[in-house]
Amino acid sequence: MEKPIQHIETEIALVGGGPSALMAATFLLDAGLKVRLYEYTSSLAKKFNVAGKSGLNLTNSLEDPSFIEMYGDDAAWIRPFILNFNNKDLRETLLHFLGIETYIGSSGKVFPKEDLSGARFIKLWIKYLKGQGLAVFTHHKFIGWIDDNALQFEDRSGDLITVYAKKAMLAMGGVSWPMTGSDGNWIDSFKAKGIQLAPWQASNCGVQISADATFFEKWNGQFLKNVQLSLNGKSVKGEIRISRYGFEGKPIYHLVPEIRKELRKGDDCTLSLDFKANMSAENLLKKLEELKGNSLSKTLKSLSVHPSFSMLLKIYQLDYTTSVDLVKWIKSFPIRVEELADIKKAISVVGGVSKEELNEDLSLKKVPNSYLAGEMIDWDAPTGGYLLQACFSMAKTVADSMIEDLKF
Ligand SMILES: Cc1cc2nc3c(=O)[nH]c(=O)nc-3n(C[C@H](O)[C@H](O)[C@H](O)COP(=O)(O)OP(=O)(O)OC[C@H]3O[C@@H](n4cnc5c(N)ncnc54)[C@H](O)[C@@H]3O)c2cc1C
Repeated sequence: MEKPIQHIETEIALVGGGPSALMAATFLLDAGLKVRLYEYTSSLAKKFNVAGKSGLNLTNSLEDPSFIEMYGDDAAWIRPFILNFNNKDLRETLLHFLGIETYIGSSGKVFPKEDLSGARFIKLWIKYLKGQGLAVFTHHKFIGWIDDNALQFEDRSGDLITVYAKKAMLAMGGVSWPMTGSDGNWIDSFKAKGIQLAPWQASNCGVQISADATFFEKWNGQFLKNVQLSLNGKSVKGEIRISRYGFEGKPIYHLVPEIRKELRKGDDCTLSLDFKANMSAENLLKKLEELKGNSLSKTLKSLSVHPSFSMLLKIYQLDYTTSVDLVKWIKSFPIRVEELADIKKAISVVGGVSKEELNEDLSLKKVPNSYLAGEMIDWDAPTGGYLLQACFSMAKTVADSMIEDLKF
């Protein structure tokens, strides 16, 4: 016998309980709307909690327009969402609704106040929303639309629930860290509607570099400090972590869009690594002349160049007989990238719903009362708070549009 289908009516259905949903719920509840939140896994905000493990970097204090420029090729598309709700608005919102202060840390990164862990911050936010009347349904998986206002879910026991919502926001995330629930399970329901999807690719991830197993075994976990990485005229300073397969860290993450372009073309992708970014080539040459006669390892130690450099010279079979050669390799070592790291371990992804499928208020052209926000849309941003800020800004745009449509 077929199981009966449960029918539910609501003003707003939020689908996927990540940071985008928490932000939309904050404004929708404040406007007095009835909001139900459906989450596929056992609890809300699993990936948001992962992000909070090493300090929850909510946004960045960089001023517009520099802030928006950080979105690279997607800056023009993201611009209206950030202008509608920027980093200052976010900080004021958290203070106004949750009473939580934020502070600016290193490199302009913004975090919840110092004595509040990421996990506690998220708990407080969810508690606040439930106190405002948010109805939360975990173990409810979105499986598709029946019509423009009817969304279908499957619960843990396989029962079907149809939710008739005046408006719905879907924010079901990308495909990295799939154990958090963001695993792209929703793709078929979008394809069934004829919605165009771009292929998933890792972003803000490490890269596999050409080197041998001994190199990775020896240096795994060590940091190359004060280095600069360059590709196609773009340079990023910072710290690189040597991993079991390659390099990780800010300079890599910020160059991933460029690296991805090169790899997609099928070309060799060679990064230029400056091991001594805080010293000019001229000064380095002078120092090397002074240190002439010393062994390479002693010379590198005196210059505070990481010892992995000499191993790389041998692996890449580079000639370093003169000081001029050595300066050249220290200031621009040609690191060959083999591929991007495993998408499952990436901090974020690109791919998902094509931007062309969305109206300006982020409603779907093919399902007008359903809106999207967050990482399930095909956009890119570097780490540093820009990912979460974009999710929050999109969610605010969606909430504004829903409130305007339903209240007036
Ligand atoms: C290790 C790590 C560190 C990070 N650090 C930072 C940082 O410091 N700063 C920063 O800005 N960003 C950071 N991020 C990125 C940030 O966490 C994401 O950009 C953000 O969580 C995306 O939010 P979202 O709302 O789009 O979706 P998600 O957070 O991915 O949430 C989507 C939700 O939808 C649910 N879902 C999926 N399918 C269905 C379905 N069919 N039905 C119902 N629910 C469904 C999922 O279970 C999940 O709960 C980090 C990410 C990782 C992995």
